[in-house]
Amino acid sequence: MKKVGFLEKAIPYPGPNDAIVKTTKALLCTSDSHTVGGAIGPRENLTLGHEAVGIVHEVGSNVKLFKPGDRVLVGAITPDWGDLASQSGHSSQSGGPLGGWKFSNTKDGVFAEYFHVNEADANMARIPTSVSDEMAVYCADMLSTGFMGAENGHIPIGGTVAVFAEGPVGLMATVGAKLRGAGLIIGVEAVPRRQELARTYGADAIADFSKEDVVQRILDLTDGQGVDTAIEALGAAITFQNAIKVTKAGGTISNVGYHGHGDFVSIPRIEWGVGMAEKTITTSLCPGGRLRMERLLRVLETKRVNPTLMTTHTFPFDEMERAFEIMDKKLDGVLKPLIIF
Ligand code: ZN
Repeated sequence: MKKVGFLEKAIPYPGPNDAIVKTTKALLCTSDSHTVGGAIGPRENLTLGHEAVGIVHEVGSNVKLFKPGDRVLVGAITPDWGDLASQSGHSSQSGGPLGGWKFSNTKDGVFAEYFHVNEADANMARIPTSVSDEMAVYCADMLSTGFMGAENGHIPIGGTVAVFAEGPVGLMATVGAKLRGAGLIIGVEAVPRRQELARTYGADAIADFSKEDVVQRILDLTDGQGVDTAIEALGAAITFQNAIKVTKAGGTISNVGYHGHGDFVSIPRIEWGVGMAEKTITTSLCPGGRLRMERLLRVLETKRVNPTLMTTHTFPFDEMERAFEIMDKKLDGVLKPLIIF
């Protein structure tokens, strides 16, 4: 892992459409570790982090919906909503591929006492009184990305779903599959604690790659047909290939995994029906925006899911380096470390 540490920076100022948020809670993400490791290229002196909630500190003159003191959720992805990609329905790609991902990619992220939010009216959401910061912060990325995995999977009601890897995104994809009405959800996971959480969040069966051939197991569980939808929530060659193998002809492989290594992601030719089995591969980056975040917060408000079961560690902000070490080396059964400011 490359070096992480603390820097003194000035409090940012808002442009007319922007806001400055005083951070209260944040979550560390595996993609932060990828960034430190150089997966998106070198990043010098860039503030990390993209999952946070906070209190509005200052707003620009055009901001209509928020005022200082408001308790807000900020999306991990903060698109430019006037962009052509946004107008065509792909706001996470505004400004170019992955361009809606600004925090800790193209601008300073949220692991700071204050951070800047572009287009505040569109990229923040007020947190309902009944939803705690510890819950709401999961909507920045984990619920949005995981649910998107299910949404893009076009799961038929009663349909069959395999979720490859029950890390935080896979777990929320499992919840998403259940909320979408899946009839059978198979979690692919080897870590006992994650298997248990997958069951808590809606998995009906577990395929354990440390003990069995998971492709065969999934085929057995689906009477040899394969699943309607496979959700790839890890970003590894083997899980991506297995996702294609277990998906029935006409089914959907919904990729939400971050493929952080290698030059190519390869497709198993025969199981892909030599290109003609009508298996659709969908990909997407965490959707942002106020509408989306208000929906996700409603799911918490009505107690459809409790994401805080994934909070395995809590650190004060000044112990951030330790949090990074635990996340990077996947120590101590880590799922999501919560950072308190
Ligand atoms: Zn994240």
